[in-house]
Amino acid sequence: MTSFNFDVITLFPKAFELINNLGVITRALDKNLIDVNLHNLREYGEGSYRQVDDKPYGGGAGMVLKPEPIYKAYESIRKLPKSKTLLMTPQGKVLKQKDLARWSTLDQIIIICGQYEGFDERIRCLADEEISIGDYVLSGGEIPAISIINGLTRLLPGTLGDPDSLIYESHNSPLLEYPQYTRPQVFRNMKVPDVLTNGNHRDIELWRKEQQLKRTYKRRRDLMRGDESNKFDFDEND
Ligand code: SAH
Repeated sequence: MTSFNFDVITLFPKAFELINNLGVITRALDKNLIDVNLHNLREYGEGSYRQVDDKPYGGGAGMVLKPEPIYKAYESIRKLPKSKTLLMTPQGKVLKQKDLARWSTLDQIIIICGQYEGFDERIRCLADEEISIGDYVLSGGEIPAISIINGLTRLLPGTLGDPDSLIYESHNSPLLEYPQYTRPQVFRNMKVPDVLTNGNHRDIELWRKEQQLKRTYKRRRDLMRGDESNKFDFDEND
């Protein structure tokens, strides 16, 4: 099996050392299911100082990434047949599980990480998609990029020990996952619900579905909207 390629353009390649210590992702690297190629933006910087940023035209706070180094780094990357380029920006489309699933059938994802106050507007046209990991602002695109590498890798065949664990989890359907328990049966006076220890699979299935509906209704009603089959009457205190 050929591996899935991540190519990341970043000013802080060291931030990606984290993926060598992330369980499932580390195993995927070891098994050559993924390749993570880091392209250090500094190496494409201009002049003897390898300059990568500059003051914004028109004034304003901070520095923005210059276009030339990013273009040079981008053009140095070998593109595979099924490849997409993602630009990390808080102005992008907010990342959803279905995006990760959609990208998991590609051969390659190229990720461009911003820094400082962001990047020159002319970088935008390199990207197929502009992605935000949520409505908050981080100092750079490295943590968003690691989130994408992490979330996508666990969807690749051969990565998770038990592929079934992908089926029922939160955000794979409009419902959040049901509550989970493991041993001991009683912990500090908190008891595992009887239904889970009685061994009746039909009851367990029904209980889990009910919990999923209640939990999603209470926490994330927005996810249920438009799904007629999930219209239930719940006590607000549940
Ligand atoms: N001034 C910019 C924000 C710059 S934050 C603006 O208002 O749009 C610096 C860099 O961090 C961004 O270029 C982006 O690459 C990354 N970043 C910050 N928050 C992010 C988020 N929520 N999602 C994705 N990338 C983000």
